[in-house]
Amino acid sequence: MRESLGIYLHFPFCVKKCSYCDFLSGPADSGTRKAYADALCREIYSFGREYGMRETLSRDGKIPVDTIFLGGGTPSVMDPEDLSRVMETVFKVFDVLPGVEISMEMNPGTFREEMLAFVKKYINRVSLGLQSADDRELQMLGRIHTYSEFESCYGTLRDAGISNINVDLMSAIPGQTLASWERSLDRVLRLRPEHMSCYSLIVEEGTPFYALYEDGRLDLPGEDEEREMYYLTKQILETYGYHRYEISNYALPGCECRHNIRYWRRSPYVGFGIGAASLLDETRWSNTRDLTRYLSGSGSLRDIREEIQDLSVSEQMEEFMFLGLRMMEGVSAADFAEAFGCELDSVFGAVCVRLISEGLLDREGDRYKLTSRGIDISNSVLAEFLLC
Ligand code: SF4
Repeated sequence: MRESLGIYLHFPFCVKKCSYCDFLSGPADSGTRKAYADALCREIYSFGREYGMRETLSRDGKIPVDTIFLGGGTPSVMDPEDLSRVMETVFKVFDVLPGVEISMEMNPGTFREEMLAFVKKYINRVSLGLQSADDRELQMLGRIHTYSEFESCYGTLRDAGISNINVDLMSAIPGQTLASWERSLDRVLRLRPEHMSCYSLIVEEGTPFYALYEDGRLDLPGEDEEREMYYLTKQILETYGYHRYEISNYALPGCECRHNIRYWRRSPYVGFGIGAASLLDETRWSNTRDLTRYLSGSGSLRDIREEIQDLSVSEQMEEFMFLGLRMMEGVSAADFAEAFGCELDSVFGAVCVRLISEGLLDREGDRYKLTSRGIDISNSVLAEFLLC
């Protein structure tokens, strides 16, 4: 039997769009959310029927699963009964292993006490989208919550026994200063969440921020200030005892997100819901982004899948490098040889030697890792591992 799967469940609904967001998400009424939960269940059942009996996936008709991630959009905007129906389906169709990590993204502005029963039953890791601890910045971002609403949601989750919490924060927000970024970090870190995801704002095309940016009316921090925020992030998080294990992710020891590590290590995962991406048996695919098509077609996998790509060996090797090097532990030459039957250096030796000479990559024993400078310009360094 093969290694266990990760499952991603996409919930594409939000109370309203944030000003910077280009994710596949938007407002919807309760009837649509209910219909979507039903469509998700149909897709999960269809997957179980189609893949469950495959010898490579399972011997007893149930595929083992050891991470589940409810993401969005805002899963916490869903009605708890609808979420429960989806999770019951997951537990019926898959062999959910003991010790499974089940993460759920929550927007502090949509958290309701009535969700607690669902959370206590199914969820053991919560990811809270805070973005800033400054109410003025939250308003600028178009967020629907205040900092104190976040704090009360955080406290309620702790009281309910959730012992693994991530908080998302964002730097380089319009109007943000180095001092206000430091205050946000300090305020949140004093709560001692197990995990922190810290990103810089990217102004994406098609968002309200993009329109303001084009008009020259978005008051972004300057390039130097943005870099200072970036360096300050690592410094403060390390002071509080967090270690960086991926370019934008920090954790207390042992609290790294297992589901996300799966993506960087190219372990198999299957995404359910509109726009959800999957990697299984060296094939990548994404579901349709069209909600109407998904609602009517989710019972037939071939009707909702798009962008199906059987990865060539070269593409698998590229991904091994540029995903694996996102992690601070880097990539192992022995793992590469085991996966591909040839030496890492025979494929990437020249580029590794050059990046080492430029101070962007390190070799420690069996592993290649990005240096601090390599991490700072990771996008361009990782692009060096594209083979064609
Ligand atoms: S809550 Fe999250 S997914 Fe929804 S609009 Fe805001 S950033 Fe996007």
